[in-house]
Amino acid sequence: MILAHRIALDPTVEQSIALSRACGVARHTWNWALAQWNKKYEAGENVTANSLKLEWNRIKHAQFPWVSESPKDANQQPFANLNTAFQRFFKKKAKRPTWKRKGEHDSFYVSNDKFRVDGATVRLPVIGSVRMREERRFVGKITAATVSRTADRWFLAIQVETDIAHLEPTDKTIGIDLGLKTAVVCSDGQTCDAPKPLKANLKRLHRRSRQHSRKQRKSSNRKKSQRRLARLHARISNIRRDWTHKVTSKLIHENQVICMEDLNVKGMTANRKLARAISDVGWYEFRRQLEYKAEVYGRTVSVISRWLPSTKTCSNCGCKTDTISLSTRVYHCDHCGFEIDRDLNAAINIHTAGLAGINACGPEGSGSVRKSRTKPCRVEAGTRPRGHSRALTN
Ligand SMILES: [Zn+2]
Repeated sequence: MILAHRIALDPTVEQSIALSRACGVARHTWNWALAQWNKKYEAGENVTANSLKLEWNRIKHAQFPWVSESPKDANQQPFANLNTAFQRFFKKKAKRPTWKRKGEHDSFYVSNDKFRVDGATVRLPVIGSVRMREERRFVGKITAATVSRTADRWFLAIQVETDIAHLEPTDKTIGIDLGLKTAVVCSDGQTCDAPKPLKANLKRLHRRSRQHSRKQRKSSNRKKSQRRLARLHARISNIRRDWTHKVTSKLIHENQVICMEDLNVKGMTANRKLARAISDVGWYEFRRQLEYKAEVYGRTVSVISRWLPSTKTCSNCGCKTDTISLSTRVYHCDHCGFEIDRDLNAAINIHTAGLAGINACGPEGSGSVRKSRTKPCRVEAGTRPRGHSRALTN
């Protein structure tokens, strides 16, 4: 499978200017292609990314001679990306592609035949040898790379085709309940709290955003405060990602099967009261990491339907209560008198349902993600497709 390995770069001042320029070329090409696409589409013409690319290649040297000062892929790959974006839009999986703006997701692509990684150095076309903060960890065939900027730091994401040996099988299984009060509650009683970095830094973030909005447009002070703000955002997301990686890795290493609920994250973040707390813990990313790590290490993630009444069912006798309010922290069963922490009760139910789903749906496979539904029983193996877009043929 293809894993992306993201390493911080240490470019010189000249190199970071060249990197910015290459991002500018990629952005300009995307916006040019998008404008053409929209124009032709409205005129009722048949438009493909390949035809646009041919047209671009005809005119680029005359109209935009500066593109040749940056790596070639920076002005070629955007066509493939735009194609993927439109295909996703046509399939109603994504919104319509929009303009790229300077300073937002700045990045450019380099295909595998145009760069070389040698120890802690990467040799990029036109830009030259750039120091990396560490050597790459994954061995295997390099398929491509993307250079990107987060706040004021540069990163190289190397895509490596690798086959990591699966972990020793174990017979331990676990159910997890993702909550707001305690981020992760396991069916064996373990709990794990999220660092809630956003909450802790929220005051500071608000203050900085306010300060930023008062700076005069296009002034150098505004630029400075923009950088400070971006760094704070990056710091918050780093803390969150670090925590998620640690917890998901621990779960994957210790258990053969991890059962979790299929949370409707999109629907729940629409509830403004819950939105901040949910995106602060980062459940969507949590699940994504769990699923890809299961595939890498040969574990199974069993996702149960979100309609299973995991909080309302007694994990001792299986009876169901009608309602349980969010503020009730202890579950009490009227039928058998069992009392248990609300989230732990849910985790145990998720565990039971997840395992039942796997057993009902046939033999247990390794390294798979299953969605078990109580009725009808259906298995969906495999994770969501990864966005490794390939370069279009010339
Ligand atoms: Zn009971």
